[in-house]
Amino acid sequence: MTTAQKETLGFQAEVKQLLHLMIHSLYSNKEIFLRELISNASDALDKLRFQALSQEELYDGDESLKIRLEFDSEANTITLNDTGIGMTRDEVIENLGTIAKSGTSEFLANLTGDQQKDSKLIGQFGVGFYSAFIVAEKVEVLTRKAGTSATEAVHWESSGEGDFSIESIEKAGRGTTIILHLKGEEKEFANNWRLRSLVKKYSDHISFPVEMLKEDMGTADDEEKKEEDEVVVPEFETVNDATALWTLPKADIKEDEYKEFYKHISHDFTDPLTWAHNRVEGKLDYTSLLYVPAKAPFDLYNREAPRGLKLYVQRVFIMDDAEQFLPLYLRFIKGVVDSNDLSLNVSRELLQNDKAVESMRSALTKRVLDVLTKMADKDPEQYANFWKEFGRVMKEGPAEDFTNREKVAKLLRFATTRSEGKEDVSLDVYIGRMKPSQEKLYFITADSYEAGMHSPHMEIFRKKEIEVLVLHDRIDEWLMSHLNEFDGKSFQDIAKGALDLGEIEDKEEKEKQEQASKEAEPLIKRIKEVLGEEVQEVRLTHRLTDSPACLVVGDYDMGMQMRKIMEAAGQPVPDSKPIFEINPEHPLVERLNKAEDQRFDELTHILFDQAKLAGGEDLKDPASYVGRLNKLLLELFN
Ligand code: ADP
Ligand code: MG
Repeated sequence: MTTAQKETLGFQAEVKQLLHLMIHSLYSNKEIFLRELISNASDALDKLRFQALSQEELYDGDESLKIRLEFDSEANTITLNDTGIGMTRDEVIENLGTIAKSGTSEFLANLTGDQQKDSKLIGQFGVGFYSAFIVAEKVEVLTRKAGTSATEAVHWESSGEGDFSIESIEKAGRGTTIILHLKGEEKEFANNWRLRSLVKKYSDHISFPVEMLKEDMGTADDEEKKEEDEVVVPEFETVNDATALWTLPKADIKEDEYKEFYKHISHDFTDPLTWAHNRVEGKLDYTSLLYVPAKAPFDLYNREAPRGLKLYVQRVFIMDDAEQFLPLYLRFIKGVVDSNDLSLNVSRELLQNDKAVESMRSALTKRVLDVLTKMADKDPEQYANFWKEFGRVMKEGPAEDFTNREKVAKLLRFATTRSEGKEDVSLDVYIGRMKPSQEKLYFITADSYEAGMHSPHMEIFRKKEIEVLVLHDRIDEWLMSHLNEFDGKSFQDIAKGALDLGEIEDKEEKEKQEQASKEAEPLIKRIKEVLGEEVQEVRLTHRLTDSPACLVVGDYDMGMQMRKIMEAAGQPVPDSKPIFEINPEHPLVERLNKAEDQRFDELTHILFDQAKLAGGEDLKDPASYVGRLNKLLLELFN
């Protein structure tokens, strides 16, 4: 072995932080280190086979693609060897010295130091290789990239503290060998039975064989072995099943096997909520295994975060994160799709315009929506958990996926005036509770549940006991702009346009309103003169019972929530004026009607500003409002 250029380099700050936290918070889960290392070996073999599609000289038969696991209980080491793609020196530094995932610093900032909470977070982050340091005091990596010469191999070594060393070595075959020098107290892992059962438990259905020395090797009688020139050739045997899980018939797969396979492909340590495994034959020929995770990943809203399914073509791994098979709003789905229709040299670019991919995408989308629909019907509690984690992403659905709009809409959950703040009412449930004469689905958008509940617009609905959807998520108004109707009924924003309760109001009420309107004409004219350009219209309200006045947005004008989002994003917001509605039965309005000019002017402005405030808007000139109000307050004491 020749050595050269030994260098000691420091870990990236994030790695140091993560290593430290991980060793403590994942301790109770420490055996997963083996799954992580075998997963990496399996990924490396996948990549080798893929590369060999275009570089035939790399391929030397499927028999050579394997993982070998050995141990030495005396030296207290475990050695894992693969014949995969290997790494160059630069790749070793990049992959084992830094964390390339974007958003890592934010992620780490969210860790609390509380073991239980952190282990959940770290589980979603996926620590992979570094989990070796939970059980090892020193880790060595010897690796040679496929296609490079024996002298270009690299030796990496670290004790998982501040730094690692790296030097050039000679290595006979391609691939990677990882040597774990176990901590004294982790001796139990350097044990034949223990390792075999871990391989069975966690890595039974990866695509490649994991080999260990035959059980009787080394335990043979010493007398026989000592025979002169007899060379003991170690014999290995495969200890896992080594057939890719998705290729097996459903009936042969146990729940736990599905769960372990999920962890192998997802970098998530938590069990998935549910999954769907399907074989499609006929015009298209493919197998899919799709999982719904239990927890949203920390980078769900990071636009650059990788997403998509693992793509195989005729069982050969082609790529991770093939994003063409599902729409963006289902980006949290993990899984595998294995196609017999695509060509082995398909690329991301080719996927984009492929007819077969398009058909698979729409079938897979339906499949996911069906799985979710089934969960919502059969297990509402589990669905509530799903909604808590992924509801916001699902709300992107109606805008993105026109075809499945109704299906997605059925999956949405909202808070309503009857849900006590919980976001758990489906549109079907809402419709089931509608008044017999109610034609529309009423909703209000607000900054919070409370603000929505207390909005003046809610008054008439409370009085008439009509349920209203209370939408208080930032993106809800945007969502509603893409959901015009559901089940043949249209949605109505109760803060927009003229309120027409249709059949809910009886004839007598309507006549009374018309009468009142006539009587209020002079008052309305007077208010218009005072407010002038500030309003689009002044009119009598049908919606207020307790408040003196409120603001209404025109039917086609942008609502307040949307306005705020656009302003925050620095987008130009179209200038639109509100409609000012007054409640003639309110004592303040009765007084207003009798006030002389100067007082009338002041009161009108106060009512107008208050209507803005009650609707959750900011005042353009808050100081004037305060001035006017204080003037009135002072009069109280005179
Ligand atoms: P992940 O598997 O999620 O990418 P890991 O921490 O498990 O993260 O591994 C980091 C990277 O190190 C891998 O993406 C891969 O590039 C490289 N790597 C790890 N183990 C091996 C191996 N046995 N052979 C080749 N590359 C490896
Ligand atoms: Mg990994």
